[in-house]
Amino acid sequence: MVGPLLIQHGSQEQKDYYLPKILAGEHIWCQGYSEPGAGSDLASLQTSAVRDGDDYIVNGHKIWTTMAMDANMIFMLVRTNKEGKKQEGITFLLVPLDTPGITVRPIINLGMHDEFAEVFFDDVRVPVANVVGGENKGWTIAKALLGHERIFIGSPKFAILAMSRLRSFAESAGLFGDPVFADRFIRLQLDIQDLSAAYKRFVAVLKRGGTIGPEVSMLKIWNTETQQRVTELTMDAAAEHGAIQGGIETENGAVRPAGEFIGSRPTTIYGGSNEVQRNILAKAVLKLPS
Ligand SMILES: Cc1cc2nc3c(=O)[nH]c(=O)nc-3n(C[C@H](O)[C@H](O)[C@H](O)COP(=O)(O)OP(=O)(O)OC[C@H]3O[C@@H](n4cnc5c(N)ncnc54)[C@H](O)[C@@H]3O)c2cc1C
Repeated sequence: MVGPLLIQHGSQEQKDYYLPKILAGEHIWCQGYSEPGAGSDLASLQTSAVRDGDDYIVNGHKIWTTMAMDANMIFMLVRTNKEGKKQEGITFLLVPLDTPGITVRPIINLGMHDEFAEVFFDDVRVPVANVVGGENKGWTIAKALLGHERIFIGSPKFAILAMSRLRSFAESAGLFGDPVFADRFIRLQLDIQDLSAAYKRFVAVLKRGGTIGPEVSMLKIWNTETQQRVTELTMDAAAEHGAIQGGIETENGAVRPAGEFIGSRPTTIYGGSNEVQRNILAKAVLKLPS
């Protein structure tokens, strides 16, 4: 997400420094957008950055930061101006996670994994050179990055992978003889093919050097809800085995219906909830009144 953003909006120094480290896997990034009081209403974020010479002093609290425990860098949104429209007082910062004053506290999710974390900033000094796009210009940068995120989350590969596990399980359990199951399976298969075709159209625009508009929200909704439908069918098909925590052995490895079902629940929340994506489509694409 941050690589394409730096290519578009970073300074030459930022591109030269960060891009090779991203490619080499030397820098692992996490995303510091959400706060306890700022999720869907992201512009309400409160983590502050106050200028002190060539540095900012950052104080605040981010939450739901995926893989913050494994990352060594965070890109984050901070408030640099409390006056005026809230979108106009936001700045986009690049911060090494080993900077003194940063504390990462893991959160255990429903699947019992510490997949995300809270990140606390206590008088953290960040050079002004780490701003992308200029002070108080972070909202534009934040939205550009979300566009890249929605392409990533909109990729049909997640639904395709879930479908391949369902197929393995259905073959092992002889479910294709059941016309009701076969009908649901084929409907999903066709939907995934349509989704893949739509995805390829968006990617082709990017490959041509074009920019993608708010219509990319469609991919996010479609992909995440399809993925959930696949895991729901997997749970139904597994019947009484759906409740067990471990895997069901098939010829192509173990399938974990409950794990997949739970794992697909947050997809409609992260990256901007699907309700909010529908609002974006209604306003920015269909031009419906607020
Ligand atoms: C697994 C996971 C990983 C995440 N990873 C990250 C990460 O790495 N970095 C990061 O910054 N954030 C991350 N998030 C946070 C995620 O972006 C937020 O959870 C999401 O934006 C929703 O915000 P919220 O949780 O504050 O819910 P809220 O904004 O409080 O929303 C609560 C409910 O109200 C609905 N709602 C809110 N506003 C509206 C509206 N205007 N119209 C209609 N419905 C509305 C929402 O759809 C939702 O159902 C992650 C979340 C999850 C679940």
